[in-house]
Amino acid sequence: MARVTLSRLTKTYPAARKSPAFTAVKGIDLEIRDGEFMVLVGPSGCGKSTTLRMIAGLEDITAGTIAIGDEIVNDQLPKDRGIAMVFQNYALYPHMTVAENMAFALKLAKTPRSEIDQRVAAAAETLGLTSMLDRKPAALSGGQRQRVAVGRAIVRQPQVFLFDEPLSNLDAKMRVAMRTEISRLHDQLRTTMIYVTHDQVEAMTMGDRICVMRGGEIMQVADPLTLYRQPANAYVAGFIGSPPMNLIHGRLESRAGGPFFVENSDGSSRMEIGLSGTPAADLAALAPHADVILGIRPEAITTEPHSGTARIEGTIELSEPMGAETHLHVRTAAHTVIARVHADARFNAGTSQPLFVDLAKLHAFDAATEQAIR
Ligand code: ATP
Repeated sequence: MARVTLSRLTKTYPAARKSPAFTAVKGIDLEIRDGEFMVLVGPSGCGKSTTLRMIAGLEDITAGTIAIGDEIVNDQLPKDRGIAMVFQNYALYPHMTVAENMAFALKLAKTPRSEIDQRVAAAAETLGLTSMLDRKPAALSGGQRQRVAVGRAIVRQPQVFLFDEPLSNLDAKMRVAMRTEISRLHDQLRTTMIYVTHDQVEAMTMGDRICVMRGGEIMQVADPLTLYRQPANAYVAGFIGSPPMNLIHGRLESRAGGPFFVENSDGSSRMEIGLSGTPAADLAALAPHADVILGIRPEAITTEPHSGTARIEGTIELSEPMGAETHLHVRTAAHTVIARVHADARFNAGTSQPLFVDLAKLHAFDAATEQAIR
């Protein structure tokens, strides 16, 4: 069994000469299932690499436990944990050939020569490196080097693969190709993989489940579509999706014609959304929360009215043609709302533009706690 269980896992970096002690991971609980592809995602500094390095045994644990299978590994050396890690900078030995790089850990472990040869050949075959086994890393492209780094992990037949931003040094096209390759590898090997990235697209396309982190804490753990459709809080809502969800601070007012959402604004003009078309159950949940953050995905907005939509007024700030669609930036009283609209329509900056929001697709968050209201 290669389930990985983190319990109350904490890391405090001790104070150094000029910097005070800093808690980078704040008592997180997370279970990564046997065979699962789990992505840890979050902005720079959220503690995802520290978490991965603690699992690898490269960083001491301040408090809590890490179990691999049923065994607590807190005090085990990295080499005894049954893990293999792929780093962002590949960490290949420049003076060794591809084959020697891949064989290195097995040699150290005194694996018989014939078995080393067979495992290296199989990994090279899987990764399309067979014709490059005699080359040195300097004679490889970035993507090929990354594949060697993955190959070096595969030959060890670990219980758990750890990836720390492995694609961030590759160009955009190679990143997409390697993304597919790593996903395919997971399908083939079915080994537990824990993958750290700051890129939400990588997280969404690769993860069986995604753990969104912020400030050393876990914001939500869920499969990609659940994260997208039911974000637990405003942070996850804004992090997953591109362009991001529009998050509009305001309050609820009930008056003739039904409840209204009114955006916070200092000036005389303000944007309102009539909410009487939202499902009754949703309204009942919203009612006790006077101050809310309304969440509207750019894809839940059109420029033409439909049934079940509410109209909002604004002025076009910017129209970004993306090819397949256009991103329309529309200024309301206090916010700029981004809508994903048809590519063939023409829009001029400075002209007024009504938008129509699909009421069934609204999200709402408590303004004080930022937690979703359901
Ligand atoms: P990135 O994507 O930038 O690597 P991350 O989410 O992986 O970010 P970590 O590398 O885990 O973040 O770092 C988390 C926090 O801990 C950061 O604020 C970082 O400055 C701090 N930190 C990391 N290593 C040390 C260290 N050795 N001593 C002190 N603080 C550290």
